[in-house]
Amino acid sequence: MSSAPPAPAATGSIAAEAARRRTFAIISHPDAGKTTLTEKLLLYAGALGGAEAGSVKARQGRREVTSDWMELEKRRGISVSSTVLRFEHAGTVFNLLDTPGHKDFSEDTLRVLSAVDAAVMLIDAAKGVEPQTLRLFEVARARRIPLLTFVNKYDRPGMEPLEVLDHLASVLDLEAIPLNWPVGLPGSFEGVIDRRTDLFHRFTRTSGGATIAPVEVLDAESAAGADEGAWATAREELELLDAVDEEFDDAAFRDGRATALFFGSAVSNFGVGPLLDALVAIAPAPAPRHEVDAAGEPNGVRELEAPFAGLVFKVQANMDPRHRDRIAFVRICSGRFERGMRVTNERTGRTLAMAHAHEVFGRERSLLEEGFPGDVVGVVGAQDLRVGDTLWLEEPARFPAIPSLAPEFFMFVRNGDVSRYKQFRRGLEQLDEEGVVHVLRREAAGDPVPVLAGVGRLQFDVAVNRMEHEFNAAVRLEEAPWTVARRTEPEDVPTVREATGAEVLVRADGTHLAVFRSEFVLQRLERDHPEITLDRLLTR
Ligand code: GDP
Repeated sequence: MSSAPPAPAATGSIAAEAARRRTFAIISHPDAGKTTLTEKLLLYAGALGGAEAGSVKARQGRREVTSDWMELEKRRGISVSSTVLRFEHAGTVFNLLDTPGHKDFSEDTLRVLSAVDAAVMLIDAAKGVEPQTLRLFEVARARRIPLLTFVNKYDRPGMEPLEVLDHLASVLDLEAIPLNWPVGLPGSFEGVIDRRTDLFHRFTRTSGGATIAPVEVLDAESAAGADEGAWATAREELELLDAVDEEFDDAAFRDGRATALFFGSAVSNFGVGPLLDALVAIAPAPAPRHEVDAAGEPNGVRELEAPFAGLVFKVQANMDPRHRDRIAFVRICSGRFERGMRVTNERTGRTLAMAHAHEVFGRERSLLEEGFPGDVVGVVGAQDLRVGDTLWLEEPARFPAIPSLAPEFFMFVRNGDVSRYKQFRRGLEQLDEEGVVHVLRREAAGDPVPVLAGVGRLQFDVAVNRMEHEFNAAVRLEEAPWTVARRTEPEDVPTVREATGAEVLVRADGTHLAVFRSEFVLQRLERDHPEITLDRLLTR
């Protein structure tokens, strides 16, 4: 992987450039094989620059705080970045956005999913849909993101293919449309039948899965001769399927009602090529994006060909110890991005030069000279940018706010050293803006102790760690009594406060959060006051 700046590209029209982009994420439960699959997608795309994919080793006691890609970097010694992996294959530009694996960071994933056009749901053939997969799937479904499902680890015993279909239907209420069908039981996986062409792709193992697995493509006749038993079973199953299953329903796939299903084994490279091909063939390219007006009401779309507009979906400070800075990640939604361009932040009305935009690819951040819808640029040092901000050129734009999950964990946070109060305050402000945690205050109670809130306790570990190491602040955390939260409106605050076991906290941006000691308190309030706003989703 070269760290040299990309050669000045001879690029086509904005529409043509957008059409050849695929911006996606992989959602999975830890250990399903996301790191391995990512690595193999790179191998198949020819993006490892001649390096062989190393065999993946067990990672014992690994903590999920860091990105899986950093882990990949360490293991492989190759350059992959922690937010977006960009690679080109056969004329298609892929932007693979990282999603944190741990459930405590599902908030981050929610934001990443607002910046992709498709997702690959990765499941372990033996374990099926696991809790984190389920959570992320629900977010993907709510956003109607087209899903390709990759049933991984087919080299080991697990669910048989028809069982997988039932499993997805019963657990996720999701129709799965297999685009390939495995030959051989899980554990003695031989290859897949491509349902479109009816050809059998027989896999061969390579040593440790380090190189692309040679595939023999056989037609029905030669395949039957090659392996009667497994082949015949697969054919029978397919006939069964053909009888109930219509043609691939593109509309259902595109709005996330049905998923395209693939079988494979990332570690042995089986089925990775077909998945990559499918991303090109069926995953949607960037499309015009919905806009809202100042009140958040729908307001048409931003056409791809309109002047530049982008959405800030992630803000991260000090991601690389060698570059101590703050990066805002912007997904380009329309127009052509050029380095140095001056854009307006719709929220503040202020302009900023995207002079420090980097293509975030590897540790050596090469400067991105030009970008198109679907691409992600990292804007360095823009202190002003927050998650959910829309940036535009020439014609104002405003994209819908990014939803976030109502927090479930709450801690009082106290300054541990009076002489370092400034550091304490600055740190909290920054963490709130980045969305690492929600920083809330009990404004009317005359109690200045801020409250940290999040969807998982690990968020607090990260917050404390960063407060201490980056901001040189001293903090003390203390359990707060609430367990549930809902967004509420300022006019409902007195009603909520009247309830025993309820309180209202306010975030710096003015969002009001009703917090409750128990689910029961919340339910009682909902029952007694159906007229008040108690919303599960927040926005940033
Ligand atoms: P992640 O936590 O989702 O990123 O998962 P990893 O890619 O780190 O994989 C977790 C474990 O599963 C590792 O030990 C991998 O070697 C193993 N693994 C990944 N893909 C496969 C596969 O296709 N077959 C088998 N048998 N093991 C796999």
